[in-house]
Amino acid sequence: MTATALEGRRTPEGSSVPQQKAPSNSVSDSSQGRLVIVSGPSGAGKTTVLRKVFERSRQPLVASVSATTRPQRPGEVDGVDYHFLSEREFQLRRERGDFLECFEVFGRGHWYGTLREEVLSGLRAGKWVVLEIDVQGALAVMQEYPRAISIFVEPESLDELERRLRDRKTETEEAVQRRLAKARWELDRADRYRYRVVNADGEMDRAVREICDVLNQESEKCGK
Ligand code: 5GP
Repeated sequence: MTATALEGRRTPEGSSVPQQKAPSNSVSDSSQGRLVIVSGPSGAGKTTVLRKVFERSRQPLVASVSATTRPQRPGEVDGVDYHFLSEREFQLRRERGDFLECFEVFGRGHWYGTLREEVLSGLRAGKWVVLEIDVQGALAVMQEYPRAISIFVEPESLDELERRLRDRKTETEEAVQRRLAKARWELDRADRYRYRVVNADGEMDRAVREICDVLNQESEKCGK
């Protein structure tokens, strides 16, 4: 399936995504590196776990820097945390076929997308390119790139996730409910990932170790 077909779909929030031009080259063409997809519900702790995996992994991991239309947060660096684009620039790039996948995440009018070139250049250099993207984006990438190592990071339970979200004390009740609804939608699709890792409270090291083990196993399988 091509990226064109992948991106003309309806998101869980109901916004439809029009088709875009066919890409000139495919991620599947680039066989040197590996693609690693990591997703998980908001509050599952995937960003912190991943940071530690980057420190400890034996593989040449590199994070793919996504593009987004959401406002830059204090402390975030353009080109490092995200490529922060205007709505117009994002849509121009989408029409040009620059994205491997892109979606309106959370249904709040902010777009996020994986830049095809960002991934291809890493793969060509023999890197293990890590995409930390949401489930709808991950499913799209998995269809185009079935060899991808896909990992779903999840909390022990939805109750635990709810407790963590409430402990942050930064979210309104409405936001907590929205995140929980989205988490349910994501958990229903967790079986589509090749690996599932539970990030239990107080046991982050175990989750980090499990992900490193997955990467080592994959490395042995492909002789890298
Ligand atoms: P945040 O705005 O908090 O940085 O990220 C919000 C959500 O967007 C997270 O679930 C993150 O995984 C997801 N996300 C980040 N980059 C991408 C991307 O390129 N594509 C998709 N589909 N989701 C992304």
